[in-house]
Amino acid sequence: MKISAVLATKGMNVVTIHPEQTIREAIALLNKHNIGALVAVDAAGKPVGILSERDIVRHAVKSQDIFAASISQVMTRDVVTGSPQDDLNAVLQTMTDRRFRHMPVVDEGKLVGIVSIGDLVKAQLNEYKGQIDTLQTQVGKG
Ligand code: AMP
Repeated sequence: MKISAVLATKGMNVVTIHPEQTIREAIALLNKHNIGALVAVDAAGKPVGILSERDIVRHAVKSQDIFAASISQVMTRDVVTGSPQDDLNAVLQTMTDRRFRHMPVVDEGKLVGIVSIGDLVKAQLNEYKGQIDTLQTQVGKG
């Protein structure tokens, strides 16, 4: 299965933030949308970083001023992105190897979605269920 199929089900909406905004604003967005990461974008909408709950926790341990800190002080700059053509299993493997749970999806330089490890596991389970149903039908147990 391709990442484009996952996006077709979950939608292409990405909650973004700008590097000069504050962690207070980021926490409000994470809470409002019930998500674990925001993609930091520049004025042109190009991804320049990713901010996950984990970055906020890591920074909070070192600094009392976490709420007033800017996104750029806390985010991960070296974002690993995927493409709609990527295979779901390959993306899951990358997330597992690199120990992160979010992957922004970029197509021709444009941010077109984000997938979490939860989205991918859910899509994979649905695919397996479909295959089991097909096999059961074929052997007459459907
Ligand atoms: P997560 O497991 O996604 O909450 O993130 C764990 C750490 O990996 C945090 O420092 C994130 O900023 C970072 N991270 C998450 N997703 C990515 C990604 N696609 N590329 C690079 N770093 C990431």
